[in-house]
Amino acid sequence: MDIRTPVFCGIVPPHILDKLARADDPAVSGPARRTLQADAAQRTGRRLTTVLGAAARPVAAPADGPRRTVYDARGGTDLPGIRARGEGEEAVKDATVNRAYAGLGATFELLTAYGRSSIDGAGLPLDASVHYDEKYGNAFWNGEQMVFGDGDGEIFLDFTVAVDVIAHELAHGLTQYTANLSYFGQPGALNESVSDVLGSLVKQRTLGQSAEEADWLIGAGLLAPRVEGVALRSMKAPGTAYDDDVLGKDPQPATMQDYVRTGRDNGGVHINSGIPNHAFYLLATRLGGRAWERAGQIWFDVLTGGELTVDADFGSFARLTVAAAAARYGEGEEHEAVLKAWSQVGVKTSD
Ligand SMILES: [Zn+2]
Repeated sequence: MDIRTPVFCGIVPPHILDKLARADDPAVSGPARRTLQADAAQRTGRRLTTVLGAAARPVAAPADGPRRTVYDARGGTDLPGIRARGEGEEAVKDATVNRAYAGLGATFELLTAYGRSSIDGAGLPLDASVHYDEKYGNAFWNGEQMVFGDGDGEIFLDFTVAVDVIAHELAHGLTQYTANLSYFGQPGALNESVSDVLGSLVKQRTLGQSAEEADWLIGAGLLAPRVEGVALRSMKAPGTAYDDDVLGKDPQPATMQDYVRTGRDNGGVHINSGIPNHAFYLLATRLGGRAWERAGQIWFDVLTGGELTVDADFGSFARLTVAAAAARYGEGEEHEAVLKAWSQVGVKTSD
């Protein structure tokens, strides 16, 4: 039996919420403070370990399809809340419930395409709660389920509007069950990046987009109209997702030259993730076509292959992607493109 410690991974990083909490406008600072408090309670108040390998729940549906349940927290913080829609049930009136249901399904389908049954590889039921807390400005995976806030309407909108956000959070579950990358410094930034990659791939697959057609944004549609910005992060151009009076400027670097050394945000896990994010973007666009097929498969092979260690740095992750590309596709185009992508962001793939 394998006991691991899940981490609190909200889609909105603490450096953004800290900034909002200090805003002059109480309509902005109030909900941000409330969100920070709720996040802190999540970090300390919930169960600190998840026991893996134990039987989760009784099997109620065929094991080859998803087993989704969406709950409505109705503005409270008790989880999971009231059951709103179960697997195979008709759409309900509440569009937020239906979006969460669809997002869980889209993520499950991508994992199936990679030959994996749900995030634990054994058909784990996927649970999500929507309408968490009041004006709650975040979405997170708590080690057992997904949770979505409605946003405050001033800075953030309903967190189910972006399918990549749903997939990002579920991918934290996938990482928890596989490489279990620690949530600090470079392994933490890799943990974040892998979630962004999976998030973007689920969105691209849902929309039927090629690497060239995709926007490579994380959280597009999540920012309220008053915010100067397009998303929370950009894999195509890290550091350009927003530049706003209240929100500040997107701090992500695209290459090692601009690597940010900081103690905040768990050593910059949502900041330096821009570097592996950009490497993936460069790989996928160099290969062209559907990013989830070859580029995504290489990343997935590394995440689930058993060689990625909990304390992996960018260099060791990069070397594993080079090896994974060669193992699956030989030393051809894919292998060459992986080497080139890491070289362009300044991460060494040889000692
Ligand atoms: Zn995350």
